[in-house]
Amino acid sequence: MKAEKDKVVGFDYSLTVDGEKLESSFDSGEALWVLLGRGQLIPGLEAALEGQEAGATLSVDISPEQGYGERSEGMTQRVPKKYFQQAAKLKPGMTTVLALKEGGHRAVVVQKVGMTTVDVDLNHPMAGKSLHFDVTVNAVRDASAEELEHGHAHPPGAEAH
Ligand SMILES: [Zn+2]
Repeated sequence: MKAEKDKVVGFDYSLTVDGEKLESSFDSGEALWVLLGRGQLIPGLEAALEGQEAGATLSVDISPEQGYGERSEGMTQRVPKKYFQQAAKLKPGMTTVLALKEGGHRAVVVQKVGMTTVDVDLNHPMAGKSLHFDVTVNAVRDASAEELEHGHAHPPGAEAH
């Protein structure tokens, strides 16, 4: 079966940026399961998986525009410390997670820590980076009705939700 929109794809991957391996599911044992074509992955990785079958191995270079986007200037924002989960531990250069007023979370890079506020760069930490993925496709299958309704894949053994 070929991977295409609304098929579920299980795969292992490692991510290398600027010559440094940042993540590897081969090491962590946490393979990804995604419902293709639903925005669960960056565009470049979605495109690379399209048409692949179980057993395929891929070596993929992804430009910033097909990854996490280009960096934008003027994305610095001063945020009260109460919006951070571990404000006391923040240092410039760290990536942390910011709870958004409108709900949800966002990864940000700390620029400056003040008495009551923190300056953060709202660009995604991977913005402007060229990404290299090594991928092994483990499985391609039809999505269940529930997965299609939820808009994401349910990994084997996932709890009902
Ligand atoms: Zn679900």
